[in-house]
Amino acid sequence: MSNLSQEVAKRRTFAIISHPDAGKTTITEKVLLFGQALQKAGTVKGKKSGQHAKSDWMEMEKERGISVTTSVMQFPYGGKLVNLLDTPGHEDFSEDTYRTLTAVDSCLMVIDSAKGVEERTIKLMEVTRLRDTPILTFMNKLDRDTRDPIELMDEVEDVLKIACAPITWPIGMGKGFKGVYHLLRDEVILYQSGQGHTIQEKRIIKGLDSPELDEAIGSYASDLRDEIELVKGASHEFDQEAFLAGELTPVFFGTALGNFGVDHMLDGLVEWAPTPQPRETDQRVVQPTEDGFSGFVFKIQANMDPQHRDRIAFVRIVSGSYNQGMKARHVRIGKDVRFSDALTFMAGDREHAEEAFAGDIIGLHNHGTIQLGDTFTAGEDMKFTGIPNFAPELFRRIRLKDPLKAKQLQKGLIQLSEEGAVQVFRPMRNNDLIVGAVGVLQFDVVVARLKSEYKVEAIYEPINVATARWVTCSDDRKLDEFQRKNQDNVALDGADRLAYIAPTMVNLNLAQERYPDVEFHKTREH
Ligand code: GDP
Repeated sequence: MSNLSQEVAKRRTFAIISHPDAGKTTITEKVLLFGQALQKAGTVKGKKSGQHAKSDWMEMEKERGISVTTSVMQFPYGGKLVNLLDTPGHEDFSEDTYRTLTAVDSCLMVIDSAKGVEERTIKLMEVTRLRDTPILTFMNKLDRDTRDPIELMDEVEDVLKIACAPITWPIGMGKGFKGVYHLLRDEVILYQSGQGHTIQEKRIIKGLDSPELDEAIGSYASDLRDEIELVKGASHEFDQEAFLAGELTPVFFGTALGNFGVDHMLDGLVEWAPTPQPRETDQRVVQPTEDGFSGFVFKIQANMDPQHRDRIAFVRIVSGSYNQGMKARHVRIGKDVRFSDALTFMAGDREHAEEAFAGDIIGLHNHGTIQLGDTFTAGEDMKFTGIPNFAPELFRRIRLKDPLKAKQLQKGLIQLSEEGAVQVFRPMRNNDLIVGAVGVLQFDVVVARLKSEYKVEAIYEPINVATARWVTCSDDRKLDEFQRKNQDNVALDGADRLAYIAPTMVNLNLAQERYPDVEFHKTREH
């Protein structure tokens, strides 16, 4: 195997999807702990200890106790190199989350075992379905009173339409949580509470029939034997092919807070999750082991380091390798650029990357020339596809306090929309600026950033817009007519694409019926 093939074979790039509060941040910390990246995992968001989790960077996020940013962490585990892409859990930043899911090869779904499948998880699973991303499942919070584990798996199968293959099975729950039985290894791993911050020796009992088990957990042992028999009969066996096709998920039980079970999941991840996968471009499919470098921008982030007001463009490397000082073609602007000081993300600390390979993420300093969805190649003119914008659901008119700064405002908004921080619509018939967001918090972020980065003070006013769709039509004449007859409802977005803004859903439906040749899109490709 060539060096590149070996490096690619080592990599596992994944993200965590979950409903807020299911435990994503806590799991991230434990995962890093196992990756030996942090000696003692920081407590989530400093709520208890004042120590901030390493993945939280922005001031706002500290204040509000939510993740605004997407960060990247790389760590070694089980002889492999794992890239974990953190996704903002708060629903207000779901667009970032969606785009991050285009940059991973597998996902870990975390479920609060007391609550089961929640609304946000359903939405995120829909997004992973677009690419049939393989899913691992962690049933969290077994140290609490949870729902019946069989019922939980049934719910995942019914609601999310994915078969469940239990890899571990819980013994008791809440105060009576004793540990898990590993179905594939035929061993019981015993849980001790109060060990949340360290990696400890776990007591392992080999074999479900071992008398040692009866000694250790008493009457739970015979219940467990009965239950496992039932579970084996009633559930799916793990099947690698079905997992890779996104049709079956291996299920692990544990408690992130108690630091129990996360390692079993990681073992599964490095053993089964796919190595960096090929990606499609408008020309051809690109394989990770191709020598030529290629990658796409899935996220642009500002203010990571308050010392430097820089913006970082996160690039998923699709093929080849990065090394410092290399040149790459910036396809959209048709120029070769030099990557002089890209960043890598070893356990949340930004470092200068010497080398990175397909499957890794690098961060490029962006001085306004890089946009979401941009492709970099070794010279080939091609563009990676499938990095979408989502139609916003919330709209406000934005207005300046000082009307002389109109140019500044427009520039700021367009740049922020190129980053994906927000979307902007400029109606054709007047000079309004309409800001569209997927979540309400985006509005606050935009005003704060306009003030600090563009020195403009802006305020919002309500506006009567219910939804927006990007419109296209293969017949230019019909599109012209559509624009003329709907002057009050057409607008250009930040990238000058035509959109229809509808005051009500009924209005949108009527427009769609009236203009069957015009296509209304809920997402727009970058
Ligand atoms: P996120 O919103 O998905 O990132 O969830 P967090 O990791 O912030 O967790 C939400 C809350 O659940 C926090 O108060 C955690 O301490 C708590 N939590 C996370 N995992 C567990 C667990 O295994 N058991 C219990 N009892 N609480 C947990």
